[in-house]
Amino acid sequence: MVVDSRRVHVYRDGGATDSPVLYWMQRDQRAEDNWALLFAREKAQERNQPLAVMFCLAAQFLGATESHYRFMLSGLAEVAETLKKLNIPFFLVKGNPSELLPRIISLNNIGCLVTDFNPLKPVIEWKETTRNGIQIPFYEVDAHNVLPCREISPKAEFSAMHLRSRINKRLSEFLVDFPALREMPESNFSHPWNWSGIQSVQAASGPSDFNGYEPGPRAATAWMNGFITGRLDGYALLRNDPTQDGQSGLSPYLHFGHIAAQRVALEVSRQEGATVSRQALLEELIVRRELADNFCHYNRQYDSTQGFHRWAKETLNVHRGDPRPFLYTFEQFRDSETHDLLWNAAQRQLVSNGKMHGFMRMYWAKKILEWTNSPEEAMEVAIGLNDAYSLDGRDPNGYAGIAWSIGGVHDRAWGERPVFGKIRYMNFAGCKRKFEVEKYIRQNFGVMMKKLQYQENN
Ligand SMILES: Cc1cc2nc3c(=O)[nH]c(=O)nc-3n(C[C@H](O)[C@H](O)[C@H](O)COP(=O)(O)OP(=O)(O)OC[C@H]3O[C@@H](n4cnc5c(N)ncnc54)[C@H](O)[C@@H]3O)c2cc1C
Repeated sequence: MVVDSRRVHVYRDGGATDSPVLYWMQRDQRAEDNWALLFAREKAQERNQPLAVMFCLAAQFLGATESHYRFMLSGLAEVAETLKKLNIPFFLVKGNPSELLPRIISLNNIGCLVTDFNPLKPVIEWKETTRNGIQIPFYEVDAHNVLPCREISPKAEFSAMHLRSRINKRLSEFLVDFPALREMPESNFSHPWNWSGIQSVQAASGPSDFNGYEPGPRAATAWMNGFITGRLDGYALLRNDPTQDGQSGLSPYLHFGHIAAQRVALEVSRQEGATVSRQALLEELIVRRELADNFCHYNRQYDSTQGFHRWAKETLNVHRGDPRPFLYTFEQFRDSETHDLLWNAAQRQLVSNGKMHGFMRMYWAKKILEWTNSPEEAMEVAIGLNDAYSLDGRDPNGYAGIAWSIGGVHDRAWGERPVFGKIRYMNFAGCKRKFEVEKYIRQNFGVMMKKLQYQENN
């Protein structure tokens, strides 16, 4: 068996049928290093049947913008090109997947449906509705996590420490190399594909709006290689300094599945030297990232204050009526119009680059808690901005990061303060001690230096 069965979740059981296999690609938008596609290929081979890949473009997905769609579609155009060389047709269709899939499956006499793992609510709803509307076997394969989310833990883990200990015990079982995706025998499955709503993925794609980020698996691999050869050594030292280019910058590629986290983990583990940096990167890439999937998978309230732990809800409730030092609307936050130049610079970095530095994301979200009327409003503003502007937004990492910042998820209680209660606090002075705040502001908001002087003197 090419794919470890512990990666596979059976949505709908059923025997083998002599008809084609369809991989409904969602989160793992790549041909190489994709356990779900490898599994679908395996099923097709077992049945001696053709294999096709389909991506269903929903009109609305968690606030994604046109720029995000273009980025994604350009990546998919590359995937389609790679698959074509392997005799695997790729189809892009537009609409609600749970409405389209049963019809497409029936019209094309599909005998087996495979998809990848994604713990986000709209995707789970699509899968559940699809399962109820079809009669064929339907499998979900975790192609996103190094250690399959459902397998590594049966419950929401309380903290990184808890998941880390599970991961460390079993990492070697799952951190294995990927087999190559082998060519399929030629078939006439692609002509004609019995569905009138097929879109041209090439026509739908377009240039990237995101400074420095080119879409697609090729660009993702080049980015990873550049990071490993150029910046991995300094990762442990520089990653928490927002004025430096010290992080890997891989999150957009991981988010769209243009590269497998497992590929990055394998390549990083193979490097010699830089032990501390390698360990630090693997901690973020595996433990923290997979903790976010664990949080969203086992907690359907991941995007609301209802998803916080009891202690956090209680402490935030105690401080619900505390006067807020400042109050801003969504639009004021969006337009970087707070009194705090550091916050404004972070928001500017998000809007203009499509990605905010990781350290600043914590400060950014915590200040939204401090400057809105309630934790509920803070969640709404932070998620709204993150999902609309971040290239890597609409991701479990985003929901977990925001819930950590505003609701103490995966964190512990700290000293009590106004508004925050026992949720960990961050402030401007703390940032000043950690990095060159003025430099970061200049990098993202150069013209406002005069106002910084004003803020510090007052
Ligand atoms: C308020 C807030 C919002 C966030 N929103 C997002 C988001 O929308 N999308 C997103 O991918 N990450 C988000 N994060 C997590 C983290 O900040 C980013 O993953 C990281 O900054 C991405 O940059 P990088 O790839 O250069 O990270 P690196 O430091 O190079 O890390 C490598 C990879 O490890 C993973 N990783 C790193 N830090 C974390 C973390 N704290 N939690 C989970 N995984 C992590 C990511 O997949 C990242 O790409 C958020 C964090 C906070 C506090």
